Amino acid sequence: STAAVVDEQPIKPLVQVEHTGLLIDGKFVDAASGKTFPTLDPRTGEVIAHVAEGHSEDIDRAVAAARKAFDIGPWPKMTAYERQKIMLRAADLIEKHNDEIATLETWDNGKPYEQSRQVEIPMLVRLIRYYAGWADKIHGLTVPADGAYHVQTLHEPIGVAGQIIPWNFPLLMFAWKVGPALACGNTVVMKTAEQTPLSALYTARLFLEAGLPPGVLNIVSGFGPTAGAALASHMDVDKVAFTGSTATGKVILQLAAQSNLKQVTLELGGKSPFIVCEDADVDQAVELAHFALFFNQGQCCCAGSRTFVHERVYDEFVEKAKIRALNRSVGDPFKSGIEQGPQIDSKQFEKILRYIRSGVDTGATLETGGERHGSKGYYIQPTVFSNVQDDMLIAKEEIFGPVQTILKFKNNEEVIQRANNSKYGLAAGIFTQNIDTANTLTRALKVGTVWVNCYDVFDATIPFGGYKMSGQGREKGEYSIKNYLNVKAVVTPLKNP
Ligand code: ADP
Repeated sequence: STAAVVDEQPIKPLVQVEHTGLLIDGKFVDAASGKTFPTLDPRTGEVIAHVAEGHSEDIDRAVAAARKAFDIGPWPKMTAYERQKIMLRAADLIEKHNDEIATLETWDNGKPYEQSRQVEIPMLVRLIRYYAGWADKIHGLTVPADGAYHVQTLHEPIGVAGQIIPWNFPLLMFAWKVGPALACGNTVVMKTAEQTPLSALYTARLFLEAGLPPGVLNIVSGFGPTAGAALASHMDVDKVAFTGSTATGKVILQLAAQSNLKQVTLELGGKSPFIVCEDADVDQAVELAHFALFFNQGQCCCAGSRTFVHERVYDEFVEKAKIRALNRSVGDPFKSGIEQGPQIDSKQFEKILRYIRSGVDTGATLETGGERHGSKGYYIQPTVFSNVQDDMLIAKEEIFGPVQTILKFKNNEEVIQRANNSKYGLAAGIFTQNIDTANTLTRALKVGTVWVNCYDVFDATIPFGGYKMSGQGREKGEYSIKNYLNVKAVVTPLKNP
């Protein structure tokens, strides 16, 4: 079916790349070394722009600027209301430039423009407003202690936050990290992903326009082992927040421990079960399971990447899942109606094709897809495997691509045991009309998020994070605020109690 794809001319994006420098102390500057690296268009592999490449000297400069903006101020010394107003103004500016930002995001990342424009940039705005709302609602407690003491807690910003983000949702990851840090009065040095540096630079510029003081938000583009590692191991960074692979998460934790024991939050990989129970309406289950896996080219840490289907509905499910994948529209993400664009880069593209070969080699049934789509760029055919066994690599490791793996199960006890038999514990989906089944599975699954009869619902208020090797700490919602606060207990004797 997809074999006869004709390559089209890529649609020309209607924006110019304005910012390619490092953002340090309120100015876009060259890297100390003068080096740059190319950021590529995943539709073609061609260069979009050359971006300043930060190394440890640049991280040092950015941390010094953030330190000054924290210690001398004005950021943590401003009133919470003033900080809130700046964040709200930034959100207004982002909203005004929604389409330009969405264009940059799609150009650099390859995700459908309609998704960037209608979902992700509006969600970025929503997140910044949500966190702005927190700024003036953060306060400590008065604590009743034994004895004649007046005891209170002060909730203080931690200081300089280092933040390292991935390429799959560049601006949502930006918002999840910058939002709570700024609301609590911290200053930030962010290392964006080397695949997608452009949209954060543009968005940070709008924060400056909104009145964010210099040094409060610094952005250093560059690579992980150089710029990223320098940030995670910096002696003057007080906290590091990381989203990415579990392997790199371990490195971050080590670097933090070996340097100054900075506080760490980690949001890592997953191999999330999506469980279709025996009472499922198969058409609806197929559609939701398809969305859970294929959304964002399959490049989601919480992708529903183990589709467990009850034996009673299994055959019908597999047949319909295959047809749905065959009908998925793949092509230039700037074209309207496109559901799937290219994967992020050649490394991910090759890795996904290797996993597909491993699925075939280990005896899973390739129902559809399995090859590249077209002849240029990093497009991959929507791929469905059935007859997948738990011990196959494709059922254990994170593929991070458009590859659905369908496994058969007989009863709830069995599926609970198999779903939990993973080093990961990020999320799970349950599809059933039976409230007892939903309650039983929800409580038994060792994961940070359970979506019942829905998937990938990401409101600003809902905490997100992992059990087991999927991470430490929670982002979004009230839970994310405490990642950016220190608690100071203040004890004063009462002279005349
Ligand atoms: P992926 O393999 O999907 O790119 P990574 O975990 O390697 O996932 O990347 C997520 C982020 O972590 C990126 O910004 C990347 O540059 C950064 N990174 C990668 N390696 C390191 C490292 N050794 N130290 C610090 N940051 C790193």
